[in-house]
Amino acid sequence: MLNTESDSAMPNPFAIAQQQFDNVAELLGLDQNTREVLRMPKRELTVYFPVQMDDGSTKVFTGYRVQHNIMRGPAKGGVRYHPDVTLDEVRALAMWMTWKCAVVGIPYGGAKGGVICDPKKMSEAELERLTRRYTAEIIMLIGPESDIPAPDVNTSAKVMGWMMDTYSMLKGYSVPAVVTGKPLSIGGSEGRPEATGRGVLFTIREASKHLGLNLQEATVAIQGFGNVGSTAAHLLHNEGCKVVAVSDSRCGIYNSRGIDPIKLLQHKRANGSVEGFDGADRITNAELLEMKCDILVPAAIENQITKANAPKILARIVAEGANGPTTPEADAILEEKRTFLVPDVLANAGGVTVSYFEWVQDLQSLFWTENEINARLEGIMTRAFADVLHMSQARKIDMRKAAYVLAVQRVAQALRDRGIFP
Ligand code: NAD
Repeated sequence: MLNTESDSAMPNPFAIAQQQFDNVAELLGLDQNTREVLRMPKRELTVYFPVQMDDGSTKVFTGYRVQHNIMRGPAKGGVRYHPDVTLDEVRALAMWMTWKCAVVGIPYGGAKGGVICDPKKMSEAELERLTRRYTAEIIMLIGPESDIPAPDVNTSAKVMGWMMDTYSMLKGYSVPAVVTGKPLSIGGSEGRPEATGRGVLFTIREASKHLGLNLQEATVAIQGFGNVGSTAAHLLHNEGCKVVAVSDSRCGIYNSRGIDPIKLLQHKRANGSVEGFDGADRITNAELLEMKCDILVPAAIENQITKANAPKILARIVAEGANGPTTPEADAILEEKRTFLVPDVLANAGGVTVSYFEWVQDLQSLFWTENEINARLEGIMTRAFADVLHMSQARKIDMRKAAYVLAVQRVAQALRDRGIFP
């Protein structure tokens, strides 16, 4: 039995991830042996490493890399830099990556990495040294055939460039396929920065078709105006939706006539926040989540839709751009209310899907156009949505359970086909 860290203030993310798995295993009648394997990570590495700070002092940082499962292919998952990173969070995120890759049918297992640090209080030079040393510390796990990191919270294309360079220097030759989400100049892919938001759009479009909701008449509220939220806002606006409310960590804004996402992005770039955008009223994040709209896109952080506010959510569709924005208690309430939920493992899988395209292009040294990338992404997201919806209807379960059932079935099948070594 794996010990989980306990923190009474926040639900333990790994305990939640295991509970979600146990529920699906029960639903599927999965045999006990398969359950034992799939509810645990495969490998975990904890590293403590020194970094020289700009003031000449040396600070020791803690970093993790966890591989949850590699039955369907190499491990894949982002690296997070945050003061609140814990081993249990990384374990949970690694398990969710296994399910996400299986839902969209790309040949990867799940992994995640993290370093406990506060990048907002570090200089770029310190972050570069931290990234290079962390990469060297986890080099026994990562590689284009074994485990491929990518950006996550507070890590960017620039950080991926440093990781790729460090790995390549230590190998003695360039290895672009060791990470995804890199700059274009060193083997990054067209369409990667917008991929997650674009995937959110495709799943909302499919959900609207299913529900008979006309996107041209639909109103949208989006929590979080970062990479995922701002791209989703822009693409939904282009489809004819009216984006009536948007928020970031500072506040929310509302305009019943609609907000122009391009102008809002310019405003955010100039002012660092959506706050003070011309012609819009200031609202709170709580008001945004509970407002009257057809489509709600939580695209910020975890645990935003809870048992406290779920009864007040009025949106017909909730599409989870963020990872884990809805707590398990809130899930049950939304299901009761018949809110159509597009779960994170499906809604935001566009990012890892285009990461997969980036890896394939790097391995072949043959690059695709943005149109080719977007068309392939659309194909994968549309098919995955149809598979999950079909499972949901066939088993009369909500979309999250359906996505998990599909994913767990696929990973369990791979385990059966490979067998247990030795
Ligand atoms: P980001 O840092 O670019 O943007 C996050 C946004 O959320 C910012 O606008 C920030 O101000 C806002 N925010 C933070 N706390 C908030 C709060 N309490 N209330 C309202 N807004 C708040 O991050 P991102 O890359 O857009 O990721 C957002 C979410 O999507 C995360 O959960 C991430 O794990 C998930 N995700 C991202 C990708 C990707 O490719 N970027 C892929 C899959 C999932």
